[in-house]
Amino acid sequence: MTRLIIAGGGLAGGLCALAMARKRPEVELVVVEQGERFGGNHTWSFFDNDVPTDRRGVLDGIEAHHWPEHTVRFPHRRRTIALGYNSIRSAALDAALRRALRLEQYRLGQRIAEVTPRSVTLEGGERIEGDAMLDTRGPGPMLGIELGWQKFVGRTYRFQKAHGVSAPVIMDATVEQIDGYRFIYQLPLSDTELLIEDTYYSASPLLDEAVLGERVDQVAAAIGAADIIEEEKGVLPVVMDGDVETLWKGEPLVRLGLRGGFFQPTTSYSLPDAVANAALLAEQRDLSAEALFALFRSRAARLWRERSFFRLLNRMLFRAAEPAESYRVLEHFYRLPPPVIGRFYSSGLTAFDKVRILSGRPPVPIGRALAALRSKAA
Ligand SMILES: Cc1cc2nc3c(=O)[nH]c(=O)nc-3n(C[C@H](O)[C@H](O)[C@H](O)COP(=O)(O)OP(=O)(O)OC[C@H]3O[C@@H](n4cnc5c(N)ncnc54)[C@H](O)[C@@H]3O)c2cc1C
Repeated sequence: MTRLIIAGGGLAGGLCALAMARKRPEVELVVVEQGERFGGNHTWSFFDNDVPTDRRGVLDGIEAHHWPEHTVRFPHRRRTIALGYNSIRSAALDAALRRALRLEQYRLGQRIAEVTPRSVTLEGGERIEGDAMLDTRGPGPMLGIELGWQKFVGRTYRFQKAHGVSAPVIMDATVEQIDGYRFIYQLPLSDTELLIEDTYYSASPLLDEAVLGERVDQVAAAIGAADIIEEEKGVLPVVMDGDVETLWKGEPLVRLGLRGGFFQPTTSYSLPDAVANAALLAEQRDLSAEALFALFRSRAARLWRERSFFRLLNRMLFRAAEPAESYRVLEHFYRLPPPVIGRFYSSGLTAFDKVRILSGRPPVPIGRALAALRSKAA
């Protein structure tokens, strides 16, 4: 019998486990996660287009929020866009996995000390072997990749009265611009519950949780009296340049999720790729370590090539504009019609979309924009 070991029960590993448990019950599974529950502490969001209907089945059984439209606000542009938005919380992934997996199919609270293409060794010394090991332990060091950072602190508040936010606010950049491109993100989880995040596209990965937490509290206080019911934070890579091969160097390990470079380079959203990879995995007849390594390594390389345009936009965002003026790049982008915005988020831009994104009066000084377009490593 084939045996698959999944190292890490986060987003990528959790979705692979769900897809395999449903579609390939004949395959033995062991998911090893260091936390006491699956998925950590995140709110994972995605636009309707990001997950095509033929792959939606991977998310079946995971409780999700859905909104038919979303809003953006900039100093000179405000728009409500008829592009649906969805969110899944870690607790929902945890609940779905506990329902779908049998007790012998997962090990929680177990830290992995070492991995090989076919095994994991736990910190206590126990070795678990299989036909293939999927390394889904979140981002590795990303050495050799040139990065900026998307960092944020988010708090979910329960208000005493209805907060009045009806649709997700994906970017509200009307706030003071500090430490790069800054915006507030709001997700109305119910009439009285609202997730508010203070987000920065910054050249520095340093996150001052206390300061950002206070700024989020100020946004909440302007809405009304509220209690904090959850908090999350993130420092996510925004790739400007480099080669995905550097993430796949060394031992031939199957790397999925952020570890394998499977994310949208501008937003760092990895849920759409995690869904696609889980669906692809469950279709494979040959689940040997060699076959899966060849499949996912070449897929990572192809997606990386296809997404070079996003790295170019990131260079414009980080280098072409003065940090306090970076918001203009996004404000300019948001003049475009909803289908182009949708294809941007789902990494499905056409050649004509790319021309449209770059056309019009440049929102940044032309000399610096050209330098950013031409530049590779700084
Ligand atoms: C707060 C936050 C919000 C985000 N929001 C979004 C969003 O809205 N949409 C989106 O698409 N993306 C979002 N992202 C980005 C990205 O999609 C997530 O980081 C996503 O969880 C990455 O998936 P992953 O499977 O690669 O890593 P993770 O989900 O982090 O999973 C890695 C797992 O491996 C486990 N692990 C690590 N080391 C070991 C070890 N030695 N032994 C055992 N277990 C180990 C970890 O505990 C963890 O559970 C967000 C990220 C953060 C941090």
